[in-house]
Amino acid sequence: MKISFDFDSTLTRPDVQNFAKQCIEAGHEVWLVTSRQDTESALLRGHHWVESQNQKLFEVAERVGIDVDHIVFTSHQPKIEFLEGKGFAIHIDDDIEELLDIKYSKDPVEGVNVEYFEWKEITEKLLK
Ligand SMILES: [Mg+2]
Repeated sequence: MKISFDFDSTLTRPDVQNFAKQCIEAGHEVWLVTSRQDTESALLRGHHWVESQNQKLFEVAERVGIDVDHIVFTSHQPKIEFLEGKGFAIHIDDDIEELLDIKYSKDPVEGVNVEYFEWKEITEKLLK
């Protein structure tokens, strides 16, 4: 299945990183979808600090085993705009706004709140 993870306060967590690794090992297609600005457009705007912040994101993605082609920067646009129509089964996030956008969209993608204590069990059920 196609499963996507938010980065800040989601894939920055070691438990979430381990879970993402397990998903890849189980053969799922794992994506990282962040609302951060991509490095190139940040630099064009003079936001030079974004480069090293994003470098850390790429390091985490590499450690987890997420393909560079599966990393998306929405540059503060709602993530559902990217997720919609692409066959994602699950998106895991800590941002209520993003999760509500997902919930009220017509896309079958299920949003999972990583702050909820049973996020992992819920995701595992959805993956079955
Ligand atoms: Mg977040």
